[in-house]
Amino acid sequence: MIVECISVGTEILLGDILNTNVQYLSRLCATLGFDVFHTSVVGDNDARLKAELALATSRADLVILTGGLGSTNDDITKRVVIDFLGQGTEVSAYNKETIDGWFDTEKARHDNEIVYTFPKGAKVLENHVGTASGAWVPFSIDGKEGHIVILPGPPKEMIPMVENALMPILLEKTEGITKSLEVRIGVLGEYQVNDILKEEIANGTNPTIAPYVKDDGAMIRITAKAAYERTADRMILDAMQVVDAKLHPYIVAMGHESRSEVLVRLLADHNEKVSTAESITGGLVASTIIDAAGASAVLEQSFVVYSDRAKHKVLTVSKDRIREHTAVSEAVCRSMLKGLYNRTGSELCLATTGYAGPTGEDVGHVFIGVMYDGERMVYEHHLHGSRNAIRNRAKNLAIDYAIMTLKRQHDMK
Ligand code: ATP
Ligand code: MG
Repeated sequence: MIVECISVGTEILLGDILNTNVQYLSRLCATLGFDVFHTSVVGDNDARLKAELALATSRADLVILTGGLGSTNDDITKRVVIDFLGQGTEVSAYNKETIDGWFDTEKARHDNEIVYTFPKGAKVLENHVGTASGAWVPFSIDGKEGHIVILPGPPKEMIPMVENALMPILLEKTEGITKSLEVRIGVLGEYQVNDILKEEIANGTNPTIAPYVKDDGAMIRITAKAAYERTADRMILDAMQVVDAKLHPYIVAMGHESRSEVLVRLLADHNEKVSTAESITGGLVASTIIDAAGASAVLEQSFVVYSDRAKHKVLTVSKDRIREHTAVSEAVCRSMLKGLYNRTGSELCLATTGYAGPTGEDVGHVFIGVMYDGERMVYEHHLHGSRNAIRNRAKNLAIDYAIMTLKRQHDMK
């Protein structure tokens, strides 16, 4: 089934509100196995909404509208749908009774008439949170049959209406199921992932493999569509084997598990501790570890050593070394790791140093240090972006290198 979503509201076009309704509905359609090929936003304008309805009903089996369902003049959706379908109206007794009960004057009742008036043949989708009920309306236009659904704009009304009233109807129409698996990729950027999986990304239609970048780094999503859940699972597993063959060392997390959760789990499983010494990241690495429940069992200590003096005083990085190499250098990062290990004895030690900018030379030049089992590794990167983008990316690298190191080392044990 092809579904098209239309969000109605000038405030969305103006950027005043974020169109979360379309995200919710698109996701829902994907999990139900429906195809969404187009979504659109249209302002509170009769002619433009009508044109949009003509286009959407010509190419989709189900057109879902959200917003503009209230009774004020700027709420045009129901009126325009009635007009567009031209199949007359009917009154919902349930709604009329409720609405009439709210108002004591005939005028107020008349002004709210639209709330209990529905296109003929509509099935009312009750609203238990707000005033305006939605509707499931059949259409037949130039021999093409389908349905239009109208839903209220406020998400706190729309979502319960979908879950309680619309879902049972949609479930009857499912033709299959779409499942997806998120695979989080460490260290590499979206473009590098794209390059490595170029063929799979280009050739995959079902399942599809698509790279994304999120705040915590790159990821790929494998999506499969099938008649049965177990078939979709099987297809994802097969695709995952291909991905694993090409990206194994970089896979840091999968499914619902976040990077921090993986890091905490790997340490807890081996009864190991982590400590951090952070310059450029200023505590972001420790804070990210603490995001995961269970961090208290594995995080030992974190030092924010921003100045040269702190690097010397707290981590005994020698003043000469800093003078000779500068604080942003492989040599200093190595000394930070050693000092951190001497102070904490943690099995895993992480250190960061770099230039966040925005002014000065060498902006984005960072060193990430990982020490495990007495072995020190320092990774050098040149990052781009704003001050905080660079700091966030440096933090991501530290977390990713930490996970990759643990996975490699634990595998060998
Ligand atoms: P009401 O009866 O409250 O007027 P309505 O169905 O007429 O509801 P709108 O007037 O279009 O809906 O929108 C009311 C509010 O709902 C908006 O101000 C906005 O906060 C929220 N809203 C509307 N459309 C969306 C959307 N697509 N995504 C997220 N929020 C939305
Ligand atoms: Mg409104």
